[in-house]
Amino acid sequence: MPAAQTRSDIRTYKGVGVSPGIAIGRAVIVEKRVASVYRVPIRDEEVAAEVTRFLESLEKTRDELLELKAKVSRSMGDEYAQIFEAHAMIVGDASFADKVAQKIENEQVNAEWALAEVQEELQARFASFDDDYLRERVADVKDVAERVLVNLQGVAHHDLSEIAHDVIIIADDLTPSDTIHFNRRPIVGFATEVGGRTSHTSIIAKSLFMPAVIGVPRLTKIVDNDELVIVDGYEGTILINPTQAMIAEYRSRVSRHEEAEQKLLTNRELAAMTKDNHRVSLQANIELIEEVGDAVKFGAEGIGLYRSEFLYISTSPDLPTEEEHFNIYRKLAEGTAPNWCVIRTFDLGGKKLAREVMGSKEDNPVLGLRALRLCMQHRDMFKTQLRALLRASAFGKIKIMFPLVSGVQELRQVKTLVREIRLELDAEGIPYNRELQIGIMIEVPSAAVIADLLATEADFFAIGTNDLIQYSLAIDRGNENVSYLYEPLHPALLRLIKGVIDAGKRAGIPVSMCGEMASDPIYAIVLLGLGLEIFSMNPSSIPVLKNVVRSVRYKDCKRIAESALQKKTAQEIEEYIIESVAMRFPEGLASKSL
Ligand code: PEP
Ligand code: MG
Repeated sequence: MPAAQTRSDIRTYKGVGVSPGIAIGRAVIVEKRVASVYRVPIRDEEVAAEVTRFLESLEKTRDELLELKAKVSRSMGDEYAQIFEAHAMIVGDASFADKVAQKIENEQVNAEWALAEVQEELQARFASFDDDYLRERVADVKDVAERVLVNLQGVAHHDLSEIAHDVIIIADDLTPSDTIHFNRRPIVGFATEVGGRTSHTSIIAKSLFMPAVIGVPRLTKIVDNDELVIVDGYEGTILINPTQAMIAEYRSRVSRHEEAEQKLLTNRELAAMTKDNHRVSLQANIELIEEVGDAVKFGAEGIGLYRSEFLYISTSPDLPTEEEHFNIYRKLAEGTAPNWCVIRTFDLGGKKLAREVMGSKEDNPVLGLRALRLCMQHRDMFKTQLRALLRASAFGKIKIMFPLVSGVQELRQVKTLVREIRLELDAEGIPYNRELQIGIMIEVPSAAVIADLLATEADFFAIGTNDLIQYSLAIDRGNENVSYLYEPLHPALLRLIKGVIDAGKRAGIPVSMCGEMASDPIYAIVLLGLGLEIFSMNPSSIPVLKNVVRSVRYKDCKRIAESALQKKTAQEIEEYIIESVAMRFPEGLASKSL
């Protein structure tokens, strides 16, 4: 069992539930350092080996630094090489090594954690000096400690998989790639200080069925390692040190939810059709190939969005080869048959894996080299993916979709590239689907405004409201400080969405929505009324939405949408929809609140 709790008072904190479910476990605090560093308790008999592991990585770091010093001295001169000499001295300093070793011994913790703690103490000490020279050494300590950490993590080390009990990650922030690695025990849930409902970290949590709460201020300071935590992703609350009675109550709530979810699954074979026979299609958004099974289980009529960028995490720091791409796309198509699978080319950059995959850093990444822009600048990497996609199209029902298109010129350029690849494949005698459909995400306001022009050159549209809202309302989708302005029902948004749906209809091309907005029962009423016919969402949201579709009349939704378009604020629109739903569908919608 874990070490004794440091506190025992019961505390509740409110955040935003972004992935439903309830998780109970012991807190592991993660504060972002170079890489995530976890505190892992070790056994008595492991202490000596852990100290040795630390000393070896220190030795290795010192050798590296001296080598670097020699190299720099040759290429740039002694003046520049001195910094590495100074760093090697810190590494060789006996008191630094002793401090970390003592921490490992006294607290019986892993070397990474002990190192990070000593690093923090030293940095704080240097920062408090009056002398400028000494204060500037803070950066040196940081640099050195990070080098040692990289070496430590390069050799066999203790990690969370050794912990026998369930763990709740308590973090200041988590990237999507941090989160995707949580896909295994002992991690059962997480909570963070920052984040947004439609951030990719939240989207991944849902894909992994991992209860998650975000936006709890100062969380890492108010929860201690090893405290017992309940993450309630339904209500968006965190409960610390619950009593046995509270735990029992939460466990029975889990059973009630599971029962209700099972009941909902019985609509799996039923059509997504309104009471007045208006048929729509409910499809799945997925990030991982393993989710194809979930899509089928929850009754998806195809994959409306495969976020291919997550494939790059599994191969990072290397890029996926053409064969790796091809094998995944072929499997996806085969797993989705007889339905279609829409594969979006990689949407890297912005906040998504830019550092991990591209090693790049931008001042304003969300408006920077992201998605299609990045694809077009890294042609070789992009061509590898496109070749694989075209090849896989010979084996199943695949459609290609491009993210973050802002205008017709960009679409033409990428279509020219696809044509070039087709010619290459023709010359090599490699088969592909000659009727392959090419669609685009509508998630930049400019694209929404000129949807009529784009509709003449794209085979289909997918409205990405997560970004369309972010860009048209000028609010960072991952920033909890402005999340109150993230309003899917903002009149500007409804007008943009209507324009895109109408443009698609006039041009005779399908329009879907794969932003999070599509999975919300209240928003779905308006979207149905605006004429949206394809709703793509996290697989587990499909049964709920199907019940909503089956409990309403299309002609009523149309009226609701018409009136909603006349209102002036998102709040007025939301109140109006809720009122109308209560009036027109007194038997109720099968909503999220089970
Ligand atoms: C969107 O922007 O709505 C979307 C579906 O794409 P992503 O969430 O991956 O940015
Ligand atoms: Mg997007």
